[in-house]
Amino acid sequence: MKSSKRILALFICLTLVFSMLVGCSNGQQKDENNGGESEQTSSIKPGKYIGKASGYGGPIEVEVEMGEDKIEGITVLEHSETVRISAPAFERIPKAIMDNQTVNVDAVSGCTASSVGIKMAVKDAVEQSGADMDIFNKKLEKQEVAKTDEEKTAEVVIIGGGGAGLSAAVSSLENGAKSVILIEKMPALGGNTILAGGAYNAVNPEKQKAQGIEDSIEKHFQQTYEGGHKVANPELVKVLTENALDGVKWLEGYGLEWKEKIGSVVGAMWERSNQTVEPLGTGYINVLEKAALDKGCEILLETKATGLIMEDGKIVGVKAEGIDKNYTLKAEKGVIVATGGYAANPEMVRKYLSDGVYTKDNLPEKIVSTNAPGLQGEGIIMAEEIGAKVIDMEHIQLLPMPGDKFGPSINVEHSFFINKEGNRYVKEDGGRDEICLATFEQPDGQYYMINDSKIIPENRLTLSGEKLDNLIAKGTVVEADTLDDLAKAINVPAENLKATCEKFNSYVESKNDPEFGRAVWGEKIDKGPFYATLRYPALHHTMGGLKINTKCEVLGQDDNPIPGLYAAGEVTGGIHGANRLGGNAIADIVVFGRIAGKSVMGK
Ligand code: ADP
Repeated sequence: MKSSKRILALFICLTLVFSMLVGCSNGQQKDENNGGESEQTSSIKPGKYIGKASGYGGPIEVEVEMGEDKIEGITVLEHSETVRISAPAFERIPKAIMDNQTVNVDAVSGCTASSVGIKMAVKDAVEQSGADMDIFNKKLEKQEVAKTDEEKTAEVVIIGGGGAGLSAAVSSLENGAKSVILIEKMPALGGNTILAGGAYNAVNPEKQKAQGIEDSIEKHFQQTYEGGHKVANPELVKVLTENALDGVKWLEGYGLEWKEKIGSVVGAMWERSNQTVEPLGTGYINVLEKAALDKGCEILLETKATGLIMEDGKIVGVKAEGIDKNYTLKAEKGVIVATGGYAANPEMVRKYLSDGVYTKDNLPEKIVSTNAPGLQGEGIIMAEEIGAKVIDMEHIQLLPMPGDKFGPSINVEHSFFINKEGNRYVKEDGGRDEICLATFEQPDGQYYMINDSKIIPENRLTLSGEKLDNLIAKGTVVEADTLDDLAKAINVPAENLKATCEKFNSYVESKNDPEFGRAVWGEKIDKGPFYATLRYPALHHTMGGLKINTKCEVLGQDDNPIPGLYAAGEVTGGIHGANRLGGNAIADIVVFGRIAGKSVMGK
C-alpha cells in the first residue's frame, strides 16, 4: 500500500509539473476587476511548505511548492484514506487547485471528506507561505458544459459498478458476450460493495473442518430463511446458499486472496464468513474490475442511467447522462440493473415502511446511513416506470454500527457489548435487527463494543484494514491499560464494567451464556490494553426491490419476465426476507450477478 501511495504521489507530481508547463499563469495575478494583467506585489515567501489536515481516514500531509506568486507544485506525502474510494480525489483535487490557482475547488462526489482534507492541507501550506488568501481561496465560477448526444451499442448494458454489476459483466463475457458496456454514476467503481465489511458467507467445509466448525448448506439455508423471518422466496435462498461456495472459488480463480480463517461477522449467526486479505470490499472490486476489463468490458464512469428504453414490450437499451454526453445505449441481448439499494435515501426508506421489523414509529427520524451516496434507488424507480414489480419494500436493515465506527473488529467472537451503564443487554451474535432494536432501548440508543489487546495484531491494523492509531487519534476507539481507566475514559461505572467483564469471561470458559444465550465464543477479554468503540444503528441494507426469478429475470405486474430486463444484487428483493444475515450480501451479489450474466446470454 505504501509503494502504491508513492507511485500515486509521483504520478500527481508529474501531472502537476506538466499542467504547470502548459497551463499556468505567467507569474502575474489576473486582475479580475479591470479584466487585464497588472503587476502586484506578492506577499509570498517562495519555498516548500508542509500542510496538514484531517481526511476521512486520518491525517493528510502535502508538500506545496510556492513560487513568487503562484502554487508551483503539490505532492501528497502521506494519507490513510480508503484505497480506491479516495483515488479520484487524489487524482483531481491537486490538479484542479493547480489549474485554477485556488484551493476553493469543488469536492469530488463520493469522496467528499478526502477532497476536503486535501484542500485544507494545501490551504494550510499556502497560508504558511504568507500568500494572500483572498486570491488563493477565491471562489470559482460554475462552468456549464454543453452536452452532445451519442449512441452506443453493445450486446449487454449493465447499470451500476458495484459487486453485482461487475460480477454480471464478467459472467456475461464468460458466457459469450462480444460487447458489454457497464455504466457507473460515481467517479469510482465500488458502490456499497467496496465499503462493506467484506465478509462472504459460504459453507466452506475444507476450512471450517480445520477450525472444528460444524456446518451445512441446509443450515445456511435455514438460518438465512429463518433469520429473515421466513419472508424471503425460498427458491432464491436455495440458489444463494447452494452456489455461494462456487462463487468463492470463482473469485479465487480471478486472483482473490482469502484469509485462511473463517469468522463470524456481526449478524452472520454462524462461523461461515469467508474474509478477504485486502481490507473491506476492495479485494472484490479490484479483482472483478480487472477481470471485466481483461475480457473487454467498456466501463463508463460518471455516467448515470436515467431511464430504460422499451420497444414492443422488450427492454432494448438505457438512456444515460455523462459529464459531457447524453447517451443512448442500445442493448442487443438485454440490460442488467445492478444499481444497489436505497439506504442512502432516507425519504424513500421511510415512504415504504409499514409493518416490517422497523416501522414509522420505531425508526428514529434522525438516523445515519452506512451507504455510499449513490445508493438512491434509481434502478428500482426506472424499472417500476416500465412496469416492473417490487417486493418486500417495507423491510430494511440497520447495521448496529455506522460505517466509520467498525472499531478494532466487525466480528463478534472476541468482544462484548455494553450499554452506557456498563451492562451487557443483548447477545452479540444475534441478528442485526435484534441488536439494533435492543440498542434503541438503551440510554442514548448507543453502546460500546469492548475488546482487549488479544485482538490487536502487531501491525496495529484493524480487521477492516484501518490504522488503529488513527482511529484512537480521531476518538473513534478509546484505548486504556486497565478496565478502570477504560471505564473512566468512556464515562461508564467502573464497577459495572468490571463485573460485566468477569461474568462474560466465565461464560467464555463454560461456553454458556445464561443471560442472553450467546453461542459464538472466542477468547476471554482479560489482557490490557482494553478498547471501547462507541456504536449506534445506521441504515444499511434495503431488502426489498425488483422481483426476480431464479434466472434473475425481472418480473412484471403479472409475474411474467419482462423481456430483455435482468437484475442482480441489492436492487432486487426476495432473497433476504425481513432481515439479512451479516455476510450474505456479498454472497448475493456474486451468486446472482453471475446468474444474471449467464441468463442475459440466453444460457
Ligand atoms: P450491489 O452490492 O448490489 O452491487 P453496490 O451498492 O455495490 O450494489 O453498487 C451499486 C452501484 O450502482 C453503485 O456504485 C451506484 O453508484 C451505482 N448506481 C446507482 N444508481 C445508478 C444510476 N442511475 N446509474 C449508474 N449507476 C448507478
